[in-house]
Amino acid sequence: MPKNRSKDKHNIQTKLIHSGSQRSQNNETSEAIYLTSGYIYNSAEEAEARFKGEIDGYIYSRYSNPNLTMLEKKLCEMEGAEAARLTSSGMAAVFWAIFTNVQSGDHIVAADALFGSCLSILKDILPNYGIEVTIVRANKIDEWEKSIKKNTKVFFFETPTNPMLEIIDIEKLSQIAKANNIKVIIDNVFATPLRQRPMEFGADIVIYSATKHIDGQGRCLGGVILGDSEFIENKLHDYLKHTGPALSPFNAWIMMKGLETLSLRTDRQIESAKKIADYLVDLANVKEVIYPGHKSHPEYNIAQKQMTGGGPIVTFKVDGGKKEAFDFLNKLDLIKISNNLGDARTLITHPKTTTHRNLSDTECMNLGITETTLRMSLGLEDIDDIMIDIGKSIK
Ligand SMILES: *Cc1c(COP(=O)(O)O)cnc(C)c1O
Repeated sequence: MPKNRSKDKHNIQTKLIHSGSQRSQNNETSEAIYLTSGYIYNSAEEAEARFKGEIDGYIYSRYSNPNLTMLEKKLCEMEGAEAARLTSSGMAAVFWAIFTNVQSGDHIVAADALFGSCLSILKDILPNYGIEVTIVRANKIDEWEKSIKKNTKVFFFETPTNPMLEIIDIEKLSQIAKANNIKVIIDNVFATPLRQRPMEFGADIVIYSATKHIDGQGRCLGGVILGDSEFIENKLHDYLKHTGPALSPFNAWIMMKGLETLSLRTDRQIESAKKIADYLVDLANVKEVIYPGHKSHPEYNIAQKQMTGGGPIVTFKVDGGKKEAFDFLNKLDLIKISNNLGDARTLITHPKTTTHRNLSDTECMNLGITETTLRMSLGLEDIDDIMIDIGKSIK
């Protein structure tokens, strides 16, 4: 029976391994790495024809490269998107996805709870180019609605948010956006790709820092922008080609290998996050545990609707103040202090003094980030070892 199934009918996990592969004349099993900046033409006529777009073929690796094409195809299968383009980092993806959808005189509404550099783009960079930005309380849908103006072109947010793991209702916001001709751009890192599919809830453009779970082992930076082919191929492609935030073919190859194990890894990380959340709730010196997969989460029902599982990240507060939080971090052996996430290693960070250091005290207060807030990204270790590390360090 499987033999008769058309390629399209394979499940995503299968497609992440088999789809998009381009094999050389050597017919290698694992895809080759094309570390080349340029391509040779057999004749001047061929060069002319390729530049004219009359025949297919690569021209220059700032435009594209076989490893990038392969990875883009797999990522489209993963997301159910028509087209994708890769960038050298997640931030390049965020910037170009937003920037290509606005021009001087346009208006953007964005969430207040965002990855730090995203806020800098919105608050410090775009306003210099005549782009107006309104920042709203992330999970207050009515604030988004009230902020809409005639020139509003983009809604930008992430869900779950960083680091407080608030949940934004993708479907509701997308409906409001559609009714007002606004594009919804989502930074989908915190839920992990396979466990939240924003396009199914109406989002127009999905972005990833591929640095996180797509690579999955903390090796290289990369980003991806997914959307409809009209936007990606006719607009974004030229912006990227001429400005040059190109992903290295080597990094694209690593990420392609990452996709082969993505579901195994994120299944494990999410399962571990749930166990750790349960464990932390019972610890005497832990004051508050925030996990979207827990019934106690204020937006649990929305999380249930749009995510499968509660995500690979747990946020919690310890008793005391900054000193107690730092003492706890410094006692950990196995869990590493790092602001990165989505690694094979379990990583923990103190947002107030690292990732969210640029926010004022009032801004932190509004978001709920305190001196004792800690964000933990679960890795692939044996969960018992992680619990023991926490247990011995929390006292
Ligand atoms: C890491 C991250 C980014 C930035 O990605 P880089 O690859 O570090 O440039 C953007 N958004 C979210 C949610 C992230 O976690």
